[in-house]
Amino acid sequence: MDVKITAVDKIFHYRIPKNIEQLRLGHRVLVPFGKRQVEGYVVELVDEVDLEPERIKNIIKPLDLKPILTEEQLEVAKWMAEEYIGLYSQALQFFLPAGTRYGRERVSKKKQLVVTLSNLEMLPIYLEKLPKNAVRQRAVLMSLNENPQQLASELCAQTKANYQTLNALRDKGYIELESKVIERKIQLETGEEEIHTLNQYQVKALEEIINQMKKEHKPVLVHGVTGSGKTEVYLHSIKHCLNQGRQAVMLVPEIALTAQTIARFTQRFPDRIAVLHSGLSEGERYDQWHKIYNGEVDIVIGARSAVFAPFHNIGLIILDEEHETTYKQEDGMLKYHTRGVAMKRAAYHEAVVILGSATPSIESYHRALRGDYKLVELPYRVNHISMPKISVVDMRSEFAKDNRSMFSRQLSEALEDTLSRQEQAIIFINRRGYSSFVLCRECGYVIECRNCQVSLKYHQVDNSLKCHYCGYRQKLPTSCPNCASHYLRQFGSGTQQVEQYVKQNFSQAKTVRLDADSARIKGAHSRILNRFKNQDANVLIGTQMIAKGLDFPNVTLVGVLSADLTLNFPDFRASEHTFQLLTQVSGRAGRDIKLGRVIIQCYDPAHYAIKAVQKQDYLSFYRQEITFRRQLNYPPFGHLVRILVQGPEMLVERKAEKVFLLLNKRLKNAQVFNPAPAPIPKIKGRYRWQIIIKSREPINNLLDDIPQNDQDVVIDVDCEPLFLL
Ligand code: ADP
Ligand code: ZN
Ligand code: ZN
Repeated sequence: MDVKITAVDKIFHYRIPKNIEQLRLGHRVLVPFGKRQVEGYVVELVDEVDLEPERIKNIIKPLDLKPILTEEQLEVAKWMAEEYIGLYSQALQFFLPAGTRYGRERVSKKKQLVVTLSNLEMLPIYLEKLPKNAVRQRAVLMSLNENPQQLASELCAQTKANYQTLNALRDKGYIELESKVIERKIQLETGEEEIHTLNQYQVKALEEIINQMKKEHKPVLVHGVTGSGKTEVYLHSIKHCLNQGRQAVMLVPEIALTAQTIARFTQRFPDRIAVLHSGLSEGERYDQWHKIYNGEVDIVIGARSAVFAPFHNIGLIILDEEHETTYKQEDGMLKYHTRGVAMKRAAYHEAVVILGSATPSIESYHRALRGDYKLVELPYRVNHISMPKISVVDMRSEFAKDNRSMFSRQLSEALEDTLSRQEQAIIFINRRGYSSFVLCRECGYVIECRNCQVSLKYHQVDNSLKCHYCGYRQKLPTSCPNCASHYLRQFGSGTQQVEQYVKQNFSQAKTVRLDADSARIKGAHSRILNRFKNQDANVLIGTQMIAKGLDFPNVTLVGVLSADLTLNFPDFRASEHTFQLLTQVSGRAGRDIKLGRVIIQCYDPAHYAIKAVQKQDYLSFYRQEITFRRQLNYPPFGHLVRILVQGPEMLVERKAEKVFLLLNKRLKNAQVFNPAPAPIPKIKGRYRWQIIIKSREPINNLLDDIPQNDQDVVIDVDCEPLFLL
């Protein structure tokens, strides 16, 4: 009998020698490969192969007692490689525990340096004795004041101190340094949580889920407004699942934002939960993986990668906030979507996938209406808490009335008002994609491509506008094509300017700012939010990072600056992403009994996405959006593939042209658009060109047609890309 293993992306044949018994599918094995010995996986067992017997080498030995991969996982991995046009070997890696990937050995427990403050009461005296210029030593002591024992590495990263700083403090006797083995035990937050009696909508949702678990096994889409009790439904469903002796996978878009959620789960199901996400160290991930593999737990909570949890009897896979783009793997050679993998795994296990969202993706809602998924609605917040009141301000009329500042009069008044009532406000700046397009400040007009209905991107080099889907280009007009105004200009205003503005104009404001800059230091994210939570600050200013998950009862005002920035993103999903984002941001207001207010500033208040946000009407948004998708054959009606070619300027365009000609010849039934520079035309000095393929039928097996990567130029394939940047 012969065995196949994968090493590169090929399957190689090996013979099972007589002394190895009980080798099964999914076993990890050591095999000779050229002059080396490498690790491989048994992916198929065959009786014969078309090779001369002397060319078939023997397997050296199995590396584990039990197979590390199940038949199901092998099958799903194979499907992934086809579906997402990637490598089988890469797909397999996703299922393997961190420590064994790429043949790395198990990560050993290592010692780490721990810093302890010698005496908390003495701290004021230590501080006084420090020389004025000992800034770093001071920072270290201040940090230890908040948390008297910390890892040296984290403390240094946070305070910009180094080991000399620490040694100096130790020599003075202010701190103690000690090397310790840190247990890789993950601290799961626990909280107090009562079990609620479900309301009528939640009961219906739960009944549908249980029903599907019994028969049919269709996915269930739970469409529920923010605070409608979706998580409560998940908890009850999981309980049911465990009672049947089956396992549950709970997926969340970003683990950092879900400490509160995890606490609810651990409270409800103590000692039955493992956590899997990329924020864990490799060792921690390895331990968690083995707990799951050995059946010590029956619930996994995690981000994207937890969908690969090595359970053997899955009953439920839940994707909370199923529309979130973090569910798409964006790096590497296999860009899978978590939803797709979840569906495939669930089908094998006869499990049910629950998709939950306040703003389902257009694709999922379409499938639900078509009957592929079961749809349940949770239309109201629990406990009779009202949805916030949303108003939209037209910044064109502010401009016309000579208000050229960042805040409309309405937002200024509301902020004054909120602060004087000792309540809190969130100012959200929609900054992604800034200055990528040109907008008329007088009439709000944005120049779009006539073929693709996406905004044209401004290129400073030659003062032109270009479409990144089809390659169309034109000169930048000197006046607005719509109203002839000369106030055509690029867009963008940063968080720092806004913070400055708020400080200068609102005397009662105490601001904190959360954006990629201010959150760069480890731990800063939660420190900033804690200041806001403890009411040390009353205005939180930030970008996309503050849009989701935050639950502060005293926030009664949310202001949104330049709400339609993302609407003009050169991406056909721009409206959908904007609608989801604004709905989510709005949901931060009025979480408690005090009524919330949301003020949205924009240039295009008549846009259907903005109107739907204001009316809090998902269905009207969906109807408009689906019409547009149908007309232009965008998903869910057609399929998209994006081929990205990256490299030095001289080579990229030529290579893209070559790939285009190849694909154009082969894909007779698809539209292959001309190569064009990607919306972000250059990253880290490497130029980026893209080819978009649009087709009615799914596109597979492209890899054979695409030339191999050479040294300089890298070609990247993304099926159903979520962003085309
Ligand atoms: P969602 O996930 O839709 O945002 P949650 O499940 O988190 O909603 O519920 C919002 C809040 O309401 C939570 O604090 C939760 O404990 C509470 N809650 C949920 N369901 C009920 C219920 N049936 N009765 C009372 N409170 C509930
Ligand atoms: Zn175009
Ligand atoms: Zn105009």
